[in-house]
Amino acid sequence: MKYVLVTGGVVSGLGKGVTASSIGVVLKACGLRVTSIKIDPYLNTDAGTMSPFEHGEVFVLDDGGEVDLDLGNYERFLDITLTKDNNITTGKIYQSVLEKERRGDYLGKTVQVVPHVTDAIKNWIQSVSTIPVDGKEGPADVCVIELGGTVGDIESMPFIEALRQLSFSVGPDNFCLIHVSLIPVLGVVGEQKTKPTQHSVRELRALGLTPHLLACRSAQPLLENTKEKLSQFCHVPIGNILNIHDVPNIWHVPLLLRNQNAHISVLNQLGLVSLASPPNLQ
Ligand code: ADP
Repeated sequence: MKYVLVTGGVVSGLGKGVTASSIGVVLKACGLRVTSIKIDPYLNTDAGTMSPFEHGEVFVLDDGGEVDLDLGNYERFLDITLTKDNNITTGKIYQSVLEKERRGDYLGKTVQVVPHVTDAIKNWIQSVSTIPVDGKEGPADVCVIELGGTVGDIESMPFIEALRQLSFSVGPDNFCLIHVSLIPVLGVVGEQKTKPTQHSVRELRALGLTPHLLACRSAQPLLENTKEKLSQFCHVPIGNILNIHDVPNIWHVPLLLRNQNAHISVLNQLGLVSLASPPNLQ
């Protein structure tokens, strides 16, 4: 199984969900089978009890799971049917760890965030990623994992650590990290600012994860010297810096990614470039 992890920096609501779904679309268009997992680091077990005014509509899956509406994006973009286990929350992870503790499964050990919670997260990801979601038999080729929230949030720390361990255990050919970040423009100066992205990449690297691709959200397309600066300071090759500027319709985002050869960057990282066909997108 190959994993594509999508994280977010600087602010929430950047479009991680749309970016992750769109990456899935371009990979699927290259002939790969794609599944997805959404991680929500909140303590609620699921989105069923959360106010739609604060969090948007609850999305109800075929198996009755009440989940984040990003799962709806994945189902629509990728034409797949997800299960409630494809949405991982801190609530679900802690519930499973505490049930094991009450059963005595830890054999008297002190139950800790590392390794017990992080192991539970890794095992959950690895088992859910093999569930077929596209009506075909056998596991998908690639699992796109979206980590909700923003890098540096206290709630997401156990997930970041588990994903760092996962990236190490599956090896560099099986793991691709895409960091979605914001490039603001200061009104007075009119310059695209890279500093917030530099800081969020530094934070991610301090936690042991280095992004292979940057997906930069901005109002206007990125200028060449903005990309050069990002490449230099964020340790990401210039060809792997993608620009997802504001578009009138989110269905344009997969085309935007295809036009910047995002699929080639991801497939290169995953060692799949020779196997995949050119993307067939309309
Ligand atoms: P996150 O997962 O980071 O919270 P979402 O993927 O839910 O963010 O997107 C937040 C909002 O931004 C949604 O309403 C989405 O339609 C919009 N959005 C995302 N990407 C773009 C884009 N490139 N252009 C315009 N709107 C976008």
